[in-house]
Amino acid sequence: MQRTTLPSGLEIEALGRCTGSFCSEVATLAVTLLRHDGSKDKHTYGMCQPHVDARYVSAEEYAKHRQQWGSSTLGQSVYERDHYEIRPLTEQEATEVAYEQAAPERWEAEGRIGAFRRIVALHQCEKIDGILVDATSAQIVVAVHDALNEKNRAKYGQMPVGVMVDFALRHTS
Ligand SMILES: [Zn+2]
Repeated sequence: MQRTTLPSGLEIEALGRCTGSFCSEVATLAVTLLRHDGSKDKHTYGMCQPHVDARYVSAEEYAKHRQQWGSSTLGQSVYERDHYEIRPLTEQEATEVAYEQAAPERWEAEGRIGAFRRIVALHQCEKIDGILVDATSAQIVVAVHDALNEKNRAKYGQMPVGVMVDFALRHTS
């Protein structure tokens, strides 16, 4: 999965997912660290309700947890809820998350270049027409494709996969 910052500034995993480790839930809450002077940290993370409930605990629970586990890395990491702003997504954030969730449909509709986009977003190698494409190659193919005009895009999209990657490599370095 690839961490993404949406236009609203909310950070999420690909497909609008929660930034909690290995989580496949959709982000429904926004979590921002509050600094000692009361200002907000520049990062706001999209998370799911279960992750927020498990991670951000009361001062009392936090103290208990520290007593039990100390600074040991055993036991789940917990944080004091009071040190964070935790709120539902704004309308804009929710719209952007929904758009990310719908990405697979867009990739599907776009055909082969959509498969390259999927590799970039999920940061996962995939075979396209029998050729294994990694995230780095996919990223430059998408960048080159998107920089072309419409007519050349169509042409580029019809080249064999190996040629597409080769062409992109030669035109981006
Ligand atoms: Zn989660």
